[in-house]
Amino acid sequence: MALHQGTLQIFENNVGVSDAVLLDPVTEDAFLDNLAARFNKQQIYTYIGNVVISVNPYEKLPLYTHAVIEEYRSRNIYELPPHIYAITDDAYRSMRDKNLDQCIIISGESGSGKTEASKVIMQYVAEVSGKGRDIDRVKEQLLQSNPVLEAFGNAKTTRNDNSSRFGKYMDIEFDFKGDPVGGVITNSQNQGERNFHIFYQMLQGLDPTALSELKLVPGVESYSFLNKSGCVDVDARDDVGDFQVVQNGMEIIGFSEEERNQVLQLLASILKLGNVQFEDRPNEDGTDGSDVVNIKEVEEVSQLLGCSLDILSSALNTRTVAVRGDMVKTDLNVADAMYARTALCKAIYSRMFSWLITRINDSIKVKENLANRTKVMGVLDIYGFEVLETNSFEQFIINYCNEKLQQIFIELTLKEEQEEYVKEGIEWIHVDYFNNSVICDLIEKNNQGILALLDEECLRPGNTSDSTFLEKMDTRCASHPHYESRKCKKNQSDKTLPHEAFRLRHYAGNVLYQVSGFLDKNNDLLFRDLSQAMYQCSHPLLKHLFPEGRPSEQSLKRPATTGSQFKVSVTELMKNLGSKNPNYIRCIKPNDFKKERDFDLEIVKHQVRYLGLMENVRVRRAGYAFRQVYPQFLFRYKMMAEETWPHWEGEPREGVKKILEAQGVSQEEYAFGKTKIFIRNPRLLFDMEERRRQR
Ligand code: ADP
Ligand code: MG
Repeated sequence: MALHQGTLQIFENNVGVSDAVLLDPVTEDAFLDNLAARFNKQQIYTYIGNVVISVNPYEKLPLYTHAVIEEYRSRNIYELPPHIYAITDDAYRSMRDKNLDQCIIISGESGSGKTEASKVIMQYVAEVSGKGRDIDRVKEQLLQSNPVLEAFGNAKTTRNDNSSRFGKYMDIEFDFKGDPVGGVITNSQNQGERNFHIFYQMLQGLDPTALSELKLVPGVESYSFLNKSGCVDVDARDDVGDFQVVQNGMEIIGFSEEERNQVLQLLASILKLGNVQFEDRPNEDGTDGSDVVNIKEVEEVSQLLGCSLDILSSALNTRTVAVRGDMVKTDLNVADAMYARTALCKAIYSRMFSWLITRINDSIKVKENLANRTKVMGVLDIYGFEVLETNSFEQFIINYCNEKLQQIFIELTLKEEQEEYVKEGIEWIHVDYFNNSVICDLIEKNNQGILALLDEECLRPGNTSDSTFLEKMDTRCASHPHYESRKCKKNQSDKTLPHEAFRLRHYAGNVLYQVSGFLDKNNDLLFRDLSQAMYQCSHPLLKHLFPEGRPSEQSLKRPATTGSQFKVSVTELMKNLGSKNPNYIRCIKPNDFKKERDFDLEIVKHQVRYLGLMENVRVRRAGYAFRQVYPQFLFRYKMMAEETWPHWEGEPREGVKKILEAQGVSQEEYAFGKTKIFIRNPRLLFDMEERRRQR
């Protein structure tokens, strides 16, 4: 597409097509070749209509300078090569000038560049919006929330480590002038208790005195939560620097020193609890109990948290249950005690994380005196479809979320198309597409969906297990076209289906889920003794995090399961996104080695499939694949008709008509809108480009 004159050097080597709807033919291979060719010339961005595909370059490119921002400011999206700035500018301007709330949905797998993309967006918005003391303070706080959330919400991972994940959604709120006045962050629940950056940063970044005050010893290898992953990155300097950044960020956001210290105490307690070992203690009545082996760790934790050693250690190896109205204390065997211990660590961590977000939101929310907030730009940074070697509950949940995102993507894209056609006075063409609501229903439908069946198994008294859950699905979902399992009649001859697993036919492809662990992960049970012990601590933050431990608050009501909590938050999120004008960035990781200039075709292909990009192109091409405002089209193709070359004095629209007539194609191939020319088949444009080049 036309490069604007005077464009910066970096845009000179535009190769392939910058919009995949112009591909000819539109095959997966052509699509991949185009991405590869562009990537090899540092053209990491490519469009599908107004969707930006971004391939992580893993190297610093001169794409984000002030000069580049100036280029993109207030330009039409098609005037310059694809860039996140272009759609951000488009979103920002339609928010500010047309009063339309916007959201930018960034998805892709771990390491594909989502978080970087969200920073690029923030940077752009910060630069193009107003300046001033209050505005700058808001900007600074919004920007600082990034490293803080990253430290607590992200983990060092090897390629397939799935111990941590989260989706982050941030609304930036603007006043009528288009200046940011505040924000709100929402986070989907993060799983897991180990590996988060902050643990490493803390161990490396604190001096010996501070460490010993937290009753910690230096060295990651001393902590079993940290030394198991096999990916201890020994770049200590980074952790030290990052720890400073996080502490700084927390200070700027407004965390007091006391609060920061309390957070460190909780982190230290989690690490120490992770080291607690239990040994078997047979009881006289034949049951198995357990004892803490290294009681010193528990003692130090009780000191950090301000509770009695007795209460804490008995909460770790016993459990009080109600038996016909009486409270009876029973011993936990080693396995159960380990389970309870880990559940406690997870609970402390995830509750502290939620608290951090609430606390950040308190700071960044729109202040009373600026409460003339009028418009919103939301940025969603979320995992794309995930298919690992073995897939479990986590993948099931994240893929469910992506299924929902696809649903609103289709809905909104088609709606937007339709609106544009109406606005331009063009007859609407029906677009046929795969409606994935049937899969969403399979997962989330009340009383019938897989999540409901899972909850049923979790709450049903008696001997339930992952296997009984599978059996239940095998009877209740057997006839569903998107459910497959070895036990179902229709799949019995399918030898690729193992036992103890089920396969879902997602819109993006089939995923096999191992059923093992589903019940536990959904239950996420924390024994009441532990929440009571936490509430009895004098540690103010911890006490605050376990309100249900207060004796008078004790209800027998079970907390919501992980799955149903997730369903609620996904529904919320979809409602929120659905009320806004969507913009999309699809991130792709070019290889598994974090290496620059290495485009692994197979790895990219996999992602292109699971991001549903070909379907994207198809939907986009289904109506009028290409559209452009008249003057621009005229400018680019004026040499292709005698009447318009070298100058056309009349209305641009008439000139465009002359050009198209000169091509000798059927009039059904294009339509004249109020401001734009609409072209049905990109083939036409492709031919024109070809002829243009030959001239
Ligand atoms: P994700 O959030 O999708 O897991 P990140 O945004 O954290 O991935 O990106 C992972 C790493 O890839 C970053 O730390 C950075 O080194 C590199 N990276 C991502 N996007 C870019 C970019 N646009 N330019 C240069 N490097 C990038
Ligand atoms: Mg990220």
